[in-house]
Amino acid sequence: MMCAKIVTISRDGCCGDCLTDPPAYSATIAALTYTFPIDMLIHALKYRMQLAIAPVLAKLLLEKTMAKELTERPDLIIPMPLHPKRLQERGFNQALEIGRYVAQQMHIELSPDSCKRIKNTSPQTELPWKMRRNNVKNVFSCDPNLSGKHLAVIDDVMTTGATLNELAQQLRKQGAKKVTNWVVARAQKDRFWTQLDQYF
Ligand SMILES: [Zn+2]
Repeated sequence: MMCAKIVTISRDGCCGDCLTDPPAYSATIAALTYTFPIDMLIHALKYRMQLAIAPVLAKLLLEKTMAKELTERPDLIIPMPLHPKRLQERGFNQALEIGRYVAQQMHIELSPDSCKRIKNTSPQTELPWKMRRNNVKNVFSCDPNLSGKHLAVIDDVMTTGATLNELAQQLRKQGAKKVTNWVVARAQKDRFWTQLDQYF
């Protein structure tokens, strides 16, 4: 499934958006739908510094990735980078905290420094897809040493996928062979109570 959006009609595991405008990443694995109680857990991790939640979220993600990725292990795990200013405010990068645990358990190298967020964007939860896409344009800078590699990008929440798509685009520009998103929770606007598990 390319973007892990729940769709009723799909062809080749793609939703309509991915078919008409294919993203730069080739697949998305989401542990859960972004809904209660996972939204509360993610919120507590990010804004109340409950760092012990990171391995719990990582375990949920691991269950999914272990089941699906055994035949296609990525070469490197890249946590979604946070802008230095945001990092300073929060004190940690939640994607790195989750990624650290996943990398360790799967024995895959973690690469927290090969991508940087060079522009600090405003939170874009309220922005529609097109504006989000412009909002995140050129916010990342990635190392050129990723050539030929299959990369797994880890993030806590995927909403429209605009940020993940922008990062995947930069990674592909640096020669990455394949980019897969591993996210803890995927927002599904109209299906709050559905776990992805029931569908895939
Ligand atoms: Zn899609």
